[in-house]
Amino acid sequence: DFAIEAEGLIKTYPATKTAPEMRALKGVDLKIPRGSIFGLLGPNGAGKSTFINILAGLCRKTSGTVRIWGRDIDERPRDARAAIGVVPQEIAADPFFTPKESLDVQAGMYGVPPNERRTAELLAALGLSDKAQAYVRQLSGGMKRRLMVAKAMVHNPPVLILDEPTAGVDVELRRQLWSYVLELNRKGVTIVLTTHYLEEAQELCDQIAIISRGQVVANEPTTTLLSRL
Ligand code: ADP
Ligand code: ADP
Repeated sequence: DFAIEAEGLIKTYPATKTAPEMRALKGVDLKIPRGSIFGLLGPNGAGKSTFINILAGLCRKTSGTVRIWGRDIDERPRDARAAIGVVPQEIAADPFFTPKESLDVQAGMYGVPPNERRTAELLAALGLSDKAQAYVRQLSGGMKRRLMVAKAMVHNPPVLILDEPTAGVDVELRRQLWSYVLELNRKGVTIVLTTHYLEEAQELCDQIAIISRGQVVANEPTTTLLSRL
């Protein structure tokens, strides 16, 4: 069984007044094993965010099939989405909430009953306990990023997806995020991350797919991929 399965996935952005039609995904076939830390590696413009946005329900595919934790995103969209937590590239934390409120609102959106919420545990895991009562607008960029990860995990999904988790992030925070990701994976969470840093994929991932111009051009265990480079 797979965490994510894409078959023949195509995404075409329609033409605009200023730009022609853009085929961002040209028939992607990808199976991401449960329990893995899977890296989607590729240059800017390759289609990584488009792929993630389709999984997250932020972007409609043109054709092809996608299953998340065995649930087809067309047939069972709610169940499919409930199986993933997504950390988007850009920080979008609510400035006038506290981190605790932010997590409570997110849990509410996912229908997690109050007695099953793990707000304190999540804040602690991400080193935010001290700031639970501060306004999000007062947090550093690094703390906001960590809050984004906590928000993605409120409903305890089996899969966590991170879009360029460490783009523009300093070394210290990068290490913190990596260690949290590794810890989650040890607890059984499947991790999917996009990156354009080979080093990051090498450090974290046990399998890497390389995506280039909307196509998967390699998909192998990290060790065999690296031995060929
Ligand atoms: P990556 O995440 O690998 O950098 P993207 O998925 O963001 O790649 O982009 C893939 C291609 O699709 C790029 O050529 C990009 O300009 C184009 N693209 C992405 N989003 C849109 C959009 N909303 N409308 C039109 N073109 C888009
Ligand atoms: P990435 O690093 O993932 O390529 P981008 O800066 O390309 O990020 O994209 C940021 C946002 O802009 C995304 O929501 C993407 O869908 C949108 N976008 C990217 N390229 C285009 C484009 N050519 N036309 C319209 N929107 C785009």
